[in-house]
Amino acid sequence: MTVTGPAAERPADPADRPAEGPGTDLAEQVHRDPAAHRVLTGDRPTGPLHLGHYFGTLQNRVRLQRLGVEMFVVVADYQVITDRDIADRLAEHSENLVLDYLAAGLDPDRATIFAHSAVPALNQLLLPFLSLVSVAELGRNPTVKDEIAHSSQAAVNGLMFTYPVHQAADILFCKANLVPVGQDQLPHLEVARTVARRFNERYPHPDGTGVFPRPEALLSAAPLLLGTDGGKMSKSRGNAVSLSADEDTTARLIRGARTDTERRISYDPAGRPEVSSLVLLAALCQDRAPEQIAEELGDGGGAALKRTVTESVNEYLRPIRARRTEFAADRGYIRQVLRDGAERANAVADATLAEVRAVMGSV
Ligand code: ATP
Ligand code: MG
Repeated sequence: MTVTGPAAERPADPADRPAEGPGTDLAEQVHRDPAAHRVLTGDRPTGPLHLGHYFGTLQNRVRLQRLGVEMFVVVADYQVITDRDIADRLAEHSENLVLDYLAAGLDPDRATIFAHSAVPALNQLLLPFLSLVSVAELGRNPTVKDEIAHSSQAAVNGLMFTYPVHQAADILFCKANLVPVGQDQLPHLEVARTVARRFNERYPHPDGTGVFPRPEALLSAAPLLLGTDGGKMSKSRGNAVSLSADEDTTARLIRGARTDTERRISYDPAGRPEVSSLVLLAALCQDRAPEQIAEELGDGGGAALKRTVTESVNEYLRPIRARRTEFAADRGYIRQVLRDGAERANAVADATLAEVRAVMGSV
């Protein structure tokens, strides 16, 4: 089966440049030299992907793929049990994740899509990596603290503290130097950078280069899209609008989104986070500036804002949802994508592990 449609195949043009938050010219660098970059990203198979995923990272992945950047996408199945006792409906969630990827435009011929648990050599990196970070460093991680606060588990397990190091292994096994992520992932990226630097220092390569690159985060224009309750939109917090939701469900969820009592619509992310997140969502779907959307809505109030957002989202997602329905008809193909991805990822992980063992002096 081939991926067709607007998000899947278009020639690279300046508008396809990966969007990025303020601060660096990383997106420019990638655009100038796509071959110098390798991407690793991924998601936990804990439920359907939502708008936060799409505008936070997935859209950038598709743009990077279109530029020809080599890409690895991990279905982070072991990470599901960080904040829950069992990984509920793991195979189903993993396959649905792949469906969402394909619908959004990831092409398994160009992107290696694999499950974390299917690549044993990758997980062997965890042992040396864990030795490179202190317990105090693991305990300070703000994203881990936030996730603990939202977890329904009675006790916090060890994996909750060590999973950022797992993620470092996910990124570094394939020597990725570019990681398109949402804002919550920045502390984890810092762990990966620290692990790479310390490993290279402790186990120098005979030729003077380090085994691992220092990966950089690529943020989008929506690094923290808010959910209907005003908190980070998350699969497991009951506040998300799924990419695969139908149009009526989308309308109902957006109608229930938290706003404020002021009628005048403005784009002021710091002062009015909920209203501004909705304005930004409409802007991203319409590929326009959020200030312009706010200006147009003027004194229309929350109801008009939500109508605009609903229409924009449903229109934007229509081709993606249609493609998803097509792909969903062939579950065998989805499983084949994961098998092929695991084969490719295993070859890369075996090679990296061999290098790691050599510089560490293992037999
Ligand atoms: P869970 O609730 O199970 O943790 P999640 O919605 O937080 O799910 P993850 O699988 O943890 O999703 O995150 C996958 C990727 O999506 C990460 O790069 C993360 O930064 C990004 N992401 C998740 N939620 C948002 C959001 N609301 N805005 C922007 N990016 C997001
Ligand atoms: Mg999460």
